[in-house]
Amino acid sequence: MDRMADQSETLGAKIVTGVHINSVEITNKYFHIKTNTQLYRGRTVVLATGSTYRLLNVPGESELIGSGIHFCATCDGAFYRGKDVIVVGGGNSALEEAMFLAGFCNKVTILSKSETFSATKTYVDKLDSYKNIEVHINVDVIQFNSNDSNQFESVRIREKTQNEERIIKADGVFIFIGLSPNTKSFKSLIDLSDSGHIITTGLNQTSHPGIFAAGDCRFGAIAQVAAATGEGVVASYGVRQYLTEKKHQEPELET
Ligand SMILES: Cc1cc2nc3c(=O)[nH]c(=O)nc-3n(C[C@H](O)[C@H](O)[C@H](O)COP(=O)(O)OP(=O)(O)OC[C@H]3O[C@@H](n4cnc5c(N)ncnc54)[C@H](O)[C@@H]3O)c2cc1C
Repeated sequence: MDRMADQSETLGAKIVTGVHINSVEITNKYFHIKTNTQLYRGRTVVLATGSTYRLLNVPGESELIGSGIHFCATCDGAFYRGKDVIVVGGGNSALEEAMFLAGFCNKVTILSKSETFSATKTYVDKLDSYKNIEVHINVDVIQFNSNDSNQFESVRIREKTQNEERIIKADGVFIFIGLSPNTKSFKSLIDLSDSGHIITTGLNQTSHPGIFAAGDCRFGAIAQVAAATGEGVVASYGVRQYLTEKKHQEPELET
């Protein structure tokens, strides 16, 4: 990554870290990017603010992220080969990741807050063929517990039908309850999907000419590094095409 940063700086890019974009505003032919530190001005903008994994916001969760609590089975699942894991969630991602983990973990316990899975029928039907997957529906996760080494040890759940609490032990937990795109600051400016992702057309152009989007914040993104990087390249072609159109070439002077 350092080498890629060096290369882009060699070609004229300026990289500024540690700034938070609060808003993007438009005057004449410029975009004004307001951050916590200063104002930046550009003739085009590429939004690549990514997304944030949704949390359960229960006690013990934030302390154990990375110490037994994970959000990506393909990334961190290998740590749990032959071990017992818990999957929280009932949608397509949760079931897909649970079946992936069941391929090499000893036991996978799925905890779903609803009485029925929101995943498609194909995924739900496939679950039956996994003898090492145990399912608990209609349960709330209410607390994550750690051991003396501050590693995840167990989860406290409430079975909603009986209103009873119980503890389930495991070696690790994978939470798949969705992703929230980091797009709140842009919702008055460009079209977002119901899920808050940025809607784009060809060359990753948003609903506002001159603003482009790339990566996990974009509707339809597949949330993988290689794809996000490629989307940046696509957006750069969009920027080039936009800037070469005559009407965007000579911005009016501003005071
Ligand atoms: C735990 C974990 C493990 C993963 N493992 C893998 C893996 O093994 N392989 C794989 O291919 N993918 C993996 N992914 C997915 C991968 O990280 C993403 O698909 C990829 O990083 C998306 O790139 P992006 O540039 O769109 O967003 P991000 O990498 O999320 O970058 C967005 C950036 O924008 C910044 N930002 C957000 N809002 C603002 C704002 N208002 N102002 C300024 N800056 C802002 C953020 O701080 C962040 O630096 C993993 C993700 C997670 C969370």
